[in-house]
Order: sequence, then C-alpha cells, then structure tokens
Amino acid sequence: MGYKQFVADLRAAKEADIDAGVTEIRPGESEGSVSFNYTHQKLVSPLEIHVLDQNIDEYPEGSSFILFTASDCAGDSIVSFLSGLTPKLTGKSVQEVIASIARDLTTFIENPDESQEHSDEFEVADHSSQSDAWDEDDDDEDYEDQDDDAFGLSAGLPPTRQEPEIIIPLWQDKTDRQRHDLALAIDAGISVAAVGDRSGQLGEIIAMSINISRLGLTDDIHSIWGLRSSDHIMLLLQFPAGYPSLADFLTLQSHQAVYRARLGKCASIKPSLSSARSALSASQYSHKTETNDMHQVLPGEIQPPDADHQVKDDKFTPLHLFNSITTLLNQEFPALLRTRREHGLSWDSAQELLLRRTEGAHVRDANYSGSDAQHIADALEKNQKQQQTPNLPPILAQDHALEDEATFSIPLSMMLFSLRRLIQSSKYCASCHQRVTDGFEGMKPYVCSRPLCMDQYFSSGMAPGIEHDIINSPVVVDLLISFFFSAVSTLKIREVPKGLGLLTLYSEDLISYHDDLHAIAYFADRRVQMKTGGTQLRVGERLFLMDASSETGPYATILSYPLSRCLCRVTALDLEGFNFEICAFWKGSSAMPEHPITHQSLSFPTTSPDDTRSRRDGGTPVRVLRYHHLIDDLETPRCYSSLTVMACGIPPVSEMREFLIAKPGRRLSSWEKLDHQTYKLLHWIIVSNQSLIIQDNPGPGQSTDGEAPSTRLMGMPENWMQFRFLQGSPEKELTFQQEMKSSFEEQLARREKPFPTIFGWHGSHVGNWHSIIRTTLDHIKIEHGRSFGNGVYLSKDLSTSASYSGLNVTMVTSPDLVHPLPFFTWPHSVLQVGSAVGCCEIINQTDQFVTAEPYYVVNNIDWIQCRYLFVHINVHTLAESGLPFLQQTSRGSLGKLRQDPARHLLGPQSKPIDVPRSGVPIERFRMFPYLAPRWILDGENKSEEWTVGSSKGVDVDGILG
Ligand SMILES: [Zn+2]
Repeated sequence: MGYKQFVADLRAAKEADIDAGVTEIRPGESEGSVSFNYTHQKLVSPLEIHVLDQNIDEYPEGSSFILFTASDCAGDSIVSFLSGLTPKLTGKSVQEVIASIARDLTTFIENPDESQEHSDEFEVADHSSQSDAWDEDDDDEDYEDQDDDAFGLSAGLPPTRQEPEIIIPLWQDKTDRQRHDLALAIDAGISVAAVGDRSGQLGEIIAMSINISRLGLTDDIHSIWGLRSSDHIMLLLQFPAGYPSLADFLTLQSHQAVYRARLGKCASIKPSLSSARSALSASQYSHKTETNDMHQVLPGEIQPPDADHQVKDDKFTPLHLFNSITTLLNQEFPALLRTRREHGLSWDSAQELLLRRTEGAHVRDANYSGSDAQHIADALEKNQKQQQTPNLPPILAQDHALEDEATFSIPLSMMLFSLRRLIQSSKYCASCHQRVTDGFEGMKPYVCSRPLCMDQYFSSGMAPGIEHDIINSPVVVDLLISFFFSAVSTLKIREVPKGLGLLTLYSEDLISYHDDLHAIAYFADRRVQMKTGGTQLRVGERLFLMDASSETGPYATILSYPLSRCLCRVTALDLEGFNFEICAFWKGSSAMPEHPITHQSLSFPTTSPDDTRSRRDGGTPVRVLRYHHLIDDLETPRCYSSLTVMACGIPPVSEMREFLIAKPGRRLSSWEKLDHQTYKLLHWIIVSNQSLIIQDNPGPGQSTDGEAPSTRLMGMPENWMQFRFLQGSPEKELTFQQEMKSSFEEQLARREKPFPTIFGWHGSHVGNWHSIIRTTLDHIKIEHGRSFGNGVYLSKDLSTSASYSGLNVTMVTSPDLVHPLPFFTWPHSVLQVGSAVGCCEIINQTDQFVTAEPYYVVNNIDWIQCRYLFVHINVHTLAESGLPFLQQTSRGSLGKLRQDPARHLLGPQSKPIDVPRSGVPIERFRMFPYLAPRWILDGENKSEEWTVGSSKGVDVDGILG
C-alpha cells in the first residue's frame, strides 16, 4: 500500500469513466497528489481541483486528504464547501475520491439550500441564535447580492439566502487556536486582518502587517526596496486544509500544502480579497510556479513611470525582491522552527544544522567535520556571545520562536522571521538561503559566491530584470557599465562574472583554426566571405575579426595583438558568409578601442583604416572569433581582455532605452541587437551592484524647474555629477545611528550641543570603483606609498582625495575641462567618467581615528556611512545624449546642515561645501534637535514623522471579539 497503490489507482482513475463533469485527471505537482478539472454549466469556467494525500504512506486506509482550488471562478462558498468534504474522503481510492467530490459539487451547485441542510448534521454552533440572525437578514437585499458574488457563478443560479456553513467540531477548536495565535501577534505589535470568509477559520486569508516606518529604515532604503513610507510590510497566510496545531505544523515537510505564505506590501492595513488571492495562488505549489509568475511581474518589468501612484490602496503587491523569503517560508520554515525549538538554537544555527544534515553527508569538507552534537554545542556558545542585538528596532528585537506552546503563535513567529530576514536580507544568499560568509553585506538581496548559486540566480529568473533600471535610471546604468569597463581594462577588477556560464572569446582558438576558415573581410561593404558559410552563426551574434594578413606570433591577449581588430555584430547570414556592423575597433597594438572624440561619432566611424586596402586588394584575410569559451576557464589577463571586448559590444544605454520604451512590456533579451552572452554580462553588471546609487539632481543643462536643486551639495562644479550613494545592509544605517548615539550620550546629557558627524571625501582610482560598490570603501592605500595606518582614507578637502582618484588637481578646479583620460572609459558611455569620489559621513570622534591629520584614517567601518558619489563627467557628451533626468527621490528643501566649523567639508580650491539637511536621515534631528530645521520642530508634522506607533497591532476585523 502507500504511494505505489496511489499511483496505480490514479492510473485506473484516468482510464475509468467518472463523468459527472470530471475531465483531465492527472498527477499533481507533489507526491501523492492528483488534479482534475470539474465543469458545470453554471460555472463560468472549469474548476481546477487539487487533492493531496498528506499521509500517502498509509493510502488508502489511513489517507488524509486535503482539497484546494486556485480557479478564479471558485467563489468563497465553493471553497468552503470543498474544505468541508475532506473528512468524507478518508479510506477512499483515488477514483472514489474524485467521483465523490464531483457528485457532491454537482448537488451543491444545483441546489445549494439542500446542501446547506445536509451540512447541518455537522453543526455544533448554537443553532437557535444563528437562525435568529438569519431571520433579521431576511429582507436585506445586499445580502443576496453578496451571495451571487461569493459563488462566482454565472447568472441563472437562484440566489441563496446565506453562505452554507459547514462547521466541524474539530475545526471549531482550531478557530480558537487561531484566535489565540493572532491575539499574540497583535500584542506583539502586528496588525491583523481577516480577508474573505472561510468556515472553520477566522478568514480565508490572514493578512499580518506593520507599517514600514516601524522598521526604522531610511527613505533611501525604502526606495531601493520599491516602498513608500506609507506602505505596510504584509505577510499573507492561508490554511487551505484548516488551521494546524503546533505539533502538526512542526512536522511539515518542505513540499507541504497545509499553508501558503506570501510576503509583500500594501498601502492599506487590509488587502483586497482578489489581490491577496492572486498573490497566494501564484506561489502556491512550488518554486517553479513562482518563477513563472515572476516572469510576468518582475520589478524589472516596464511600468509607466507613475504606475505606483495609480495602484489601488488596498492592492496587495508581492515583494519580488524578497521572493527568497517567501520560498523559505513556504518550504523550510517548519523544519527551521522545529530545529530551533528542539535544540534552543538561533535561526542561523538551525539553518546550518539542517544544511549539515541534508548536504553534509555528501561533502567532505572541514566545515562538516565533528558531530551534530558538537555543532549544537558550538552554536549555543556562539549564541551566548551574540545574545544582544541592540541595533534592531524594538519590534524586531522580539524572538518568540522558543516560547512554550501555551504562549506560542505560528503566524507571529512567521511574521517576525520574515521581518528579520527582510531587514537582513543581504546577509543571506537569495539562492541557497545560507548566511553569506564573504563578509560584505549589500543593500539588496543577492547570492553567495558559490557557482551553483550564481548560476541558479541568473538563469532561473530569480534575479530582478534590468529593464526598469534602463528606463528609469539610464545614467546610473551608464555609470555601472563604465565602472566595469574601467576595472577590466585597467586590470583592477576583483569581482569577475564567474559561475554564470558566461561565454566569451579566446584568441588561442583562431591561431589553431586559422587555415580552416578562409575568411575574407570587405570592410567597405561590412561583409565577410567564409568558405564554411555563415549559416552556423546567428544574427545578432558578436564576432571578433582579427586582421590575418601577416604572420603573427603568440600574444598574451587578443588586445596585445599588433594588427587591426574589430568587434562586430552579425546583421545577415547566407551560404557564403555574413554581413556585419562594427561595435568597436582597435588599431595597431593599442589595447583600447579607437575612441570617439565627440558625441556625433559615438557610433563608430563608418570607415575603418583598412577600407582602402580592402578595396585595392579585394579584401583582408581575417580570423573570426566567436563567444565560445567559458570565462571561468580563462586565466587572468585573457579573461580581462575578453571582458573588455565584450563590454564594447554593449549598445549605448540610450539605444537600449529607446527600444524598451517604444513598446511597453518589451524585454531586453528579445532585442535582436543584443546577443545572449552580452545580455548576460550586462545583467550581471547591473544586478550585482550592491550599493544604492541614485542620480540625485539634474545633470548639466538638465535642470527642469530653473530653481537650484535643493539636494545638491552647494559649491560643487557642474562637471561633477552627484549621486545618492549608500553602502552596507539596511542594518548598517541603524548601527551608524547607534554608534552616534552612544558616542554623544554623555555630552547631550550635559546639555552640550556637539556636532555628531563630519563629512569627508573618499577618492579611489576609477578602475577600483567597480569593486568598491560591490564590497566596501578601500582600506589601506599602500599603492600611494604614504600609508598612515590601516583603515579607510578620507579627506575633508576634495583636492586631496581627487588626487587619489587618478585626476589631477587642475581638472578639479577648472569645470569646463574635458578630462584627458578617455582611454579608461567605456566607448559608448555618455558620461565619459574620468574620476569618482565618495562623500561620506563620519562619526565626529577624531581623537579615536587612526589618525585625523592630514587624512582621516578610520578603522571602524561602523563609523562611516556613504552619502554621495561624485563622478567627474564629460558635460558635452551627456548634454548631447538626450538621456532624460528622472527624479527618483522627492525630498523637500530642508536647508543646509550645520557642520563642525573646525572640520568643514572643502571642495575645489578648498572652498567650503554645504551639505543639505536632506542628505542625512530625518532620525538625526530627533536625536540632535538643535541641528533640525525650525519647521520640523514647530510643524504639525512632528508627531507623525517621529512617532514609532503604538506597541500593539490593530485588530482590523475585530476577530478577537
Ligand atoms: Zn548561496
């Protein structure tokens, strides 16, 4: 008996003639489940019904079926009715189960009243009082309308007077249990709403939420998460099979179907039933379904710029950025909780232990040596040491998972777990969910460095799309590609796109296959004739053509090859060769592509130097290189030069943007001008950025309203483009605030008015910034030969830091000078980045720095918080590009922040730079009110801005009675 029998019966059921509206009997998505469609003339569309035996090992005698449906046409009452059928199904065969469900459904749909009476035998509620209630409703017309809705049936069904109630004694107890659990959640500060109706439960869906403001994060973090400060973080929970006991819950396996969870946001404290339902059905079975769903509504999808404002207030929107938390909640949460409670472990230690058990047996790794018992003992000891988590806001400082059963709440523990994961999301791999141990924590969820996780993240649709960035932040995308290009072309890159299966070109290839290709290029016609024909190539493919007109020896890389080379895109194919257009070309032994001088020539020159000879001698013999080699296999210099070439094949951001906005919903991957490998590289460049970078004010000549933008640092010349810049996990801001508070507590108590922070510049060679935005500010700078100790180097004077950044001082002081270092820049860039400098806020405890003169050398990274990034750009190419400036943050003018006069920030020519108050979190002014603008202190907004909210959650629907 058991699974084998189930499969045999399922096969028999498929053959059998069940009729009664049943079609398409098929195996379900998990073991021991079966799905079928049920049709009835009164139903708008077929009902898809899923049946799962939770106790498949004892099928059929001991089977324990649950039923659910995700079909849109299933109204509340059908869902309720289906739930009520479960007890009747135990002991039946698959065929009998299906037949029984279909028969009962037909009866129910054709005569709901009769079914109602029939169900009375289950009822234990006080019948007489309920009858009274119905009597009162007798003349209530609204009530009848509601019923029609609830059935979701087509017109023609006689309206019924009431929802059929099927209450089973056992479930009545579960409602009490659910109420008990939700009361605990409300006490802990979580608001609870019951959405829709389900007999035997407090609602069809339970929505638990807190206002985002209670997480104590800054506006910048809200914005990178796609949230507004009025939003609620919301966890939806649904229990299709009834509310489980704690003991049952703890035994659930990862493919469980007892509950469904979905993390998202909602402007209202109670979501609409339809939005909640669709969010849950999208994630209901497996990760596979979820991935499909993501393809439709990924954050990277094109949305009209104002879509956010049109969203209805009560619409629940899944937070796709945090899909990994949803997956974890639906699959591993019960096992994690069980492990925690069994051994008294933390979430992290429980997760490590589970990984040891599932993976450890196969891995011969030092990490897995020692027994479980030893691991548990170590973990407990570690917990003792890390007992305190002072940086979490009060709501998250609660743990709850280890409470006794009498005071334990399943939904509360899930909600607290979700919130904690949310705020620490960048500490965990979005693919394997393990804590990232590489040390760096970014702003957004990302993956650990294990090749498997990288590959899965980028290939399975888990990673966010990039369309949204290209449309809304084209300048930032240009900047990210420029940083990458500078890093690979100057060999300064530390983070390389390995583990993605990225294919690139490799010069050895052609030297050995030279004789077979017989390719002749006619540059004037953009045509290559090949003996093998062009049909094995693909239109859109990038090819690298190398002049093969003279004998050449081995060269270290394709970029040290002494003859002309070009990167081209295949535009047409035939049996004799292919046509192409040039993406970039290199002359002589220069490693850098020929560089456009002005914007007009941003697309490469229409004739190459080889053209005259092509015409004269009837073509140039060339070697043709394809993207055929795994980047992971190339050693360093070849890898870097291959990536340099590939980056030249990324089209200008403005062109990609034009393609996307021409037709809403377009995906970049479907663009014929972008081949798959180049797309993968671009995707990685954008998504792997772990810092928040937002264009902060209009670029040169782009100021829209004529007024001086309030967010601009006053005194910076216009060829320094300003970006908002934040590094580290969302928790880092909280840590920074905490450090500030503890540093100045005594002074504040003495009623002194200290300046809690100072500002400093952090300069680094432009080739380092690709790594800086993925890791952290550069520490020691031995390369400059004047080390003042270990730590991050900052300076109050821009000239000092700019000299670190590869830019000489005269350039800093003459705004109109076009920088003389074009060879470091991405050829398609409109920014033509010549230099980049970070502007950071530092805790003003200079006597505790490693040194404060002539630089600030700070070795406590918690004392530094990045605020701005300034990029030295070519104002002409940007102005001519037509790239629009899109304001992403709307922060009002708060005036300038008062700075410590002894350590005022200095800009070009050592003139003072004023930092706007909007550059620091508003929380600052609560801690140090004398720094606040007057209107904030006096204004009526005060209470709203600063109150953290009551400690109790809201019982939205009065479910606690
Ligand atoms: Zn991982």
